Amino acid sequence: MRFPLALSLKITRHIVKHKILRTPKFAMVLQLEPLHTCNLTCTGCGRIREYSTSLKDMVPLEQCLAAAVDCDAPMVSICGGEPLIYPKIEELVAGLRAQGRIIYICTNGVFMRKKMREYLAAHYVASMEPMLARLVQEELITDKEADQIRKADASARNKPTIAPSKWMYWNVHVDGLEFTHDLIVEREGVFKECVAAIKMAKILGYQVATNTTVYKETDVQELEDMFKYLSWLEVDGHTISPGYDYDAAKKDMAKRLGRDPKDFFLTRELTRAKFKDIQRWGDMFTIFGTPVYQEFLAGKRELTCTAWAIPTFNVKGWKAPCYLMTDGHYGTYKEMLNQVAWEKYGVVDGVARDPRCENCMVHCGYDPSGALGTNYQSGDNWKNFRYNFWPKPAPYAEGHKVKAFNGFSIGKGHLAEAKAVVNRELAGAKSAYARGGNDVAAPSATPAAGGGSCGTGGDTSQRDELLAKIRSNTDKSVPAKSE
Ligand code: SF4
Ligand code: SF4
Repeated sequence: MRFPLALSLKITRHIVKHKILRTPKFAMVLQLEPLHTCNLTCTGCGRIREYSTSLKDMVPLEQCLAAAVDCDAPMVSICGGEPLIYPKIEELVAGLRAQGRIIYICTNGVFMRKKMREYLAAHYVASMEPMLARLVQEELITDKEADQIRKADASARNKPTIAPSKWMYWNVHVDGLEFTHDLIVEREGVFKECVAAIKMAKILGYQVATNTTVYKETDVQELEDMFKYLSWLEVDGHTISPGYDYDAAKKDMAKRLGRDPKDFFLTRELTRAKFKDIQRWGDMFTIFGTPVYQEFLAGKRELTCTAWAIPTFNVKGWKAPCYLMTDGHYGTYKEMLNQVAWEKYGVVDGVARDPRCENCMVHCGYDPSGALGTNYQSGDNWKNFRYNFWPKPAPYAEGHKVKAFNGFSIGKGHLAEAKAVVNRELAGAKSAYARGGNDVAAPSATPAAGGGSCGTGGDTSQRDELLAKIRSNTDKSVPAKSE
């Protein structure tokens, strides 16, 4: 099974209950953003821009838990910002578990090992020694850290921690192999840290998923290699979604200047081309979601947006109409359901009800449509059932052959080589490397909107631009592909 049985049953029960009650709209996954602060400043991240004036604000713990009760989604995806910065993250996870919910912690991976060391320190017993020895041997913790775990004082032992559970997934943001990923997150070593965190989590018995956003310039062969590698690491599942930047201003510019929208957008046509192999990937790897959504991504059918099924709650309230677009914030989920004119959004029979929706095929708008049967075709239920309840694909045995560490680890980090390429290309113009003490500034500062790579949204064109420059200029020896 792609999902533990208890979790699949919980979600199935939730859908069946609402079908019986004929509830017109209900929540499947809550995107909970307790804060928008982050330790990274990824190229094009929408959240740290859209909410730049409220980066220091946080949703109080009680309000986070109340939001989950309010919409009653069986799954809660804790995102942000970086949720592991949220001071009450452990209490939040515990509170959501007490409510019986399935939890995803959408993280950039940088603080995961710290959180897992805290868990080990709080629960240390002598029988953990072989595990500690393995972690040290695989360089996932140091000898000193192992000692700190053994000698944890009362405060470390009493600290609330995040324990392994079949009800909880670390959901690690990975947008490619090392070179690409570090480039996008604008920090060398992040991919390496993510891999170390995934390895440590698997040894400790946590469930781990990854989430990946596909951009206009994403190399699909690299994505397949990434899945091979992650599968070999025994990652439990992958979420993949097209990035999307609806920026109406750009659309308007395209109209007025007569430029091809393909210069700016990951259009539906381009998305379908990028996702032409999604069904084959679904057979090879544990891709989460429904096969119906995969057919939609591959261009084999249409679906209607059900953004209300994956609502977002953050420091400003319930964000409508969806994770990407903000036309307003509401006080309660019900208020949002009742007051938003949902019929004004999405694409129906190829016609965009809102121009901003025209090219959107993102997971948060359409994956639930596949599960809820909004555009039901004969056999869909069986397809969805079979996909999720049949045995999941085995880990990819040859995954270790993928040259995953093709950047920072071999001296080709983005600051060393890619930055030089971009700076050469821009010849003194502004690039995306201004932040963090680098020498030039971002090429465009389009406000937020786009597919969430680590659950955060992003300006996809900005990332595309960066990736395109690297792809077209970098020495061929910088491998995007492997094997
Ligand atoms: S994309 Fe995610 S990790 Fe990157 S800056 Fe935004 S919130 Fe942080
Ligand atoms: S189609 Fe996309 S952009 Fe439009 S409301 Fe749905 S999820 Fe949001």
